[in-house]
Amino acid sequence: MQDSYDTSKLCTILRSEMTPLLKSDLVLFFRYRRDSASIELLASSDPTPHLGSIAAPDQSSLEWIEGLVDDDLMWFPDLGSAPLLLQEWGKSWNVSSMAVFFGSEADDIKDMIIISRKEKQDESWKKIDGELLEFLRGAMFVLEIYYLINEIDKMKTDIQSVFGLAPVGIIMVDSTGMIINANKHAISMLGCGIPLDDVIGDNILSGNRFKGSGLDEVVRKTLGGEETDTENMRYKSSSGRICYLHARMQPVPMMSGKMHAIGVLADVTQRVRLQQQLERSYQTLTEAFQELQRVDKMKTRFIDVVSHELRTPLTVMRGYLELLSSEYKEKMDPKVLSKLQTIKVNTDRLYDIVESMLDVARIEKGAMEITKQESSVRALVEGVVSSQRPLAQEKHQEIDVVTIGEVSSARIDAKKLHDALKNILNNAIRYTPEGGKIQVGMADEGKMIHIWIRDNGIGIPLSDLEKIFDRFHIVVAKELSHQVDRMGLGLPISKGIIENHGGKIWVESEPDKGSIFHIKIPKD
Ligand code: ADP
Repeated sequence: MQDSYDTSKLCTILRSEMTPLLKSDLVLFFRYRRDSASIELLASSDPTPHLGSIAAPDQSSLEWIEGLVDDDLMWFPDLGSAPLLLQEWGKSWNVSSMAVFFGSEADDIKDMIIISRKEKQDESWKKIDGELLEFLRGAMFVLEIYYLINEIDKMKTDIQSVFGLAPVGIIMVDSTGMIINANKHAISMLGCGIPLDDVIGDNILSGNRFKGSGLDEVVRKTLGGEETDTENMRYKSSSGRICYLHARMQPVPMMSGKMHAIGVLADVTQRVRLQQQLERSYQTLTEAFQELQRVDKMKTRFIDVVSHELRTPLTVMRGYLELLSSEYKEKMDPKVLSKLQTIKVNTDRLYDIVESMLDVARIEKGAMEITKQESSVRALVEGVVSSQRPLAQEKHQEIDVVTIGEVSSARIDAKKLHDALKNILNNAIRYTPEGGKIQVGMADEGKMIHIWIRDNGIGIPLSDLEKIFDRFHIVVAKELSHQVDRMGLGLPISKGIIENHGGKIWVESEPDKGSIFHIKIPKD
């Protein structure tokens, strides 16, 4: 608070100024607050009274205060006739007479000035009544201005501390581009590295410090009347350091007609650098992904070529083996025949693998041909089950077939769907221990046929569920190590066949509890 606006000083001035008019020993300013029915001592010409103390007036004194109107001047030449409150104050300050003036009333507040004397006052005070009233009105007016200025000063201090505490940089510039205020965050962001006072007064537009820094452009635009919001402003400090600022600036028209600008700055360098890093990583990843796609294509082509190349000799071999084992069966030594049988089984298996690889390649190329014909779904499912039942019986497993509702026929490629369902049922048998239970179900769901294959086998870990339909994906688990002929091709082929029918396949599974594969295919 500035000295010149010290209300206590004003009391002292009042006392000495009034001396020619009347002799006063003590001048006090009070404020009465109606909401709390309390009186506060605001200032005194004498430091001894309890400055700042709050007094709660007694009921009759309160009524007296409430009854007083603005601009009232009350005389108490002898405190004996004064309200109780004044009598008590008089005692504590050791005064015998008082004049009380009430200033204007505002917002439930009444300000009063008390002039008191040590001695009892004679009637001579009354003679100066008019003159004193004028004097006190003036004093009250000055007092109110003092309060107002002090209030503004306080607000200024508050704004200044908010300014300093704000976690962002704040700068204010005048119409010429000169910095008229800035907080320490702004100074450090702008990389000035010098005391605040040195920056204030610097000109962003014409000075050297900010020339070409990026900020000069933003300030120029804002002073032109444009509100600016520059998200990643590249800022180059006078020392050459580069950083990125989010600068929001607003033009502020002054009463003089000139335009000032106020700006909020946030340092976003770390974010921008991370973003740039992310963009670079994204670029690297995209390139790596493209490379992977290229290698993957090469691999698919390789499989395709090799499979085709293998298929022809294998077909020839199978033909000769068939011929040998049927036509020359009688002429052959049983030992040779048995060896021939083993060769035939293995050649057939090799042929199946080659066929599977070709199927995968066809699906990937979108070249799988589906020939739809009206066929019985029930017959299809039952055919699949009969083909796999001997396998299940070997493992003492039960296969239960359930039908919900009347399952009608559908337009399907029965042969391909047979292969797809066979793969899934075959898996259910393979990945379910001896004595397990398998259920194959079908239901008519209006436009779709729902088929499911449930087992109570080893189940599939959650981490593999997503990938189970990918080519060559097999679950790596100790209990599966004896399953040597796993290729990870059955499910992707089944999926390809089902999706080429416009249907879908998904799986629910829990390790050690079992799995359920759902297939839905449209009827036409
Ligand atoms: P393959 O059975 O020849 O390995 P698939 O594509 O048919 O190829 O299956 C991929 C993998 O999914 C299998 O190796 C197996 O780990 C797992 N799997 C498939 N069906 C089941 C099932 N019913 N229960 C448990 N695991 C299964």
